[in-house]
Amino acid sequence: MDSRAVWTGEVRRAVIYLLLGIAIGWFFSKPLLGFALACLLVVVSWMMQMWRVTQWLQTPDAEPPEAKGLWGAVFDSIYHLQRRDREERYRLQTAVSYMRESFSALKEGTVMIDPEGRIEWSNESAVQLLGLHYPRDRGQALLNLLRLPRFIRYFSSGDFQEPLLIASPADAQLRLQIEITPFGHGSHLMFARDVTRLDQLEAMRRDFVANVSHELRTPLTVITGYLHTLIDSGLCQEDRVLRPLKQMREQSARMETLLSELLVLAELEATQPGEDLAPVDVGALMAEVQQHFENAEPGRSIVIDRSSKRWVRGNHRLLYSAVSNLLINALKYSEGDVLLSWSEQGDWGRLSVTDSGPGIEAEHIPRLTERFYRVDKSRSVASGGTGLGLAIVKHILAGHHGTLEITSKKGVGSIFTCILPLS
Ligand code: ADP
Repeated sequence: MDSRAVWTGEVRRAVIYLLLGIAIGWFFSKPLLGFALACLLVVVSWMMQMWRVTQWLQTPDAEPPEAKGLWGAVFDSIYHLQRRDREERYRLQTAVSYMRESFSALKEGTVMIDPEGRIEWSNESAVQLLGLHYPRDRGQALLNLLRLPRFIRYFSSGDFQEPLLIASPADAQLRLQIEITPFGHGSHLMFARDVTRLDQLEAMRRDFVANVSHELRTPLTVITGYLHTLIDSGLCQEDRVLRPLKQMREQSARMETLLSELLVLAELEATQPGEDLAPVDVGALMAEVQQHFENAEPGRSIVIDRSSKRWVRGNHRLLYSAVSNLLINALKYSEGDVLLSWSEQGDWGRLSVTDSGPGIEAEHIPRLTERFYRVDKSRSVASGGTGLGLAIVKHILAGHHGTLEITSKKGVGSIFTCILPLS
């Protein structure tokens, strides 16, 4: 009913009571007393209705009391709100139960974590994979139960872009991939997937590449050795023999570089990020690289621009190798000066190699760090490239919790930036 009409009706009723009180009082020559008694009657009737409301609200699921006018409208409105609230709660409860049922059926260990980092719920698979039991562990701080330092660092960092690989706290034979998704107001949903088999296959692949590279090296050294001896001996002076021999020596040298780069990659893959790091003076490292390349490539100049004096935590040998790989490319694919710069942006250091070479089309950029990916295969092979340089740089940076950023404009040049956390 229209609330204005309800109020008008209620006021009209109160006025009638008051006028009636005054009229009766008048009849007994006491109009004021009649008015006061009528007021009292109105107040008492309102208080009775309020008492009925409180009684009703204390009885769960009870029907609203019968009433007319304003109080009837109040009871109805409260009743409707209650019903809506009950329906909403039921709907949410059903949705939560449905979600929990679906999560329960998952093979992945699933844990819901509240904004304070306590376990709200976990499924059956979380028992075998993470050693978490629901409801026994409900309300416990997750980091008190999963105490692996790498997991603690990962969870506390709040950066869940990349999944985390750890050994299962419940069974050291199992390898888990942990993924965390924030939801709601500070809650998190954590999935733990058993990737033992995948991890074993990946390890087999790594070992296979490393072993093959290693095994091929010895025969290749013998072949290269004999080729050198044959060419240098002067026994093969005839051009139709000498030329193929020289080509064979060139190709075997290329194969040697390829094998040693594959071994470097295998070694990098086998080390965990953050292992073996010490403070590195980036300025000194840049000067060292500059000196090396200016000696190795006379006539080419490497310009240094250093706006930051900060050091990084890193492995000097590997960082040297990353910058060298970028400089080799810059010198190989461009003809002018190459700029080597070091600057800082917030908590990150930026070590950039800028060239004025041919540039790279945008579509190739995301794939450049894949093994053996080349923009122009014939040109890269002719220039002695193996197609592994940028893959090595990417792995080295990942081992330093850093990334490689590539920006390039066709016909203008390229900038390869190593982004490293500042110590
Ligand atoms: P490669 O040994 O072939 O140089 P990399 O992994 O170092 O292998 O580089 C991959 C590809 O990226 C190269 O083949 C080349 O096409 C492209 N590239 C790398 N650096 C540059 C650069 N400075 N300018 C233009 N293209 C580049």
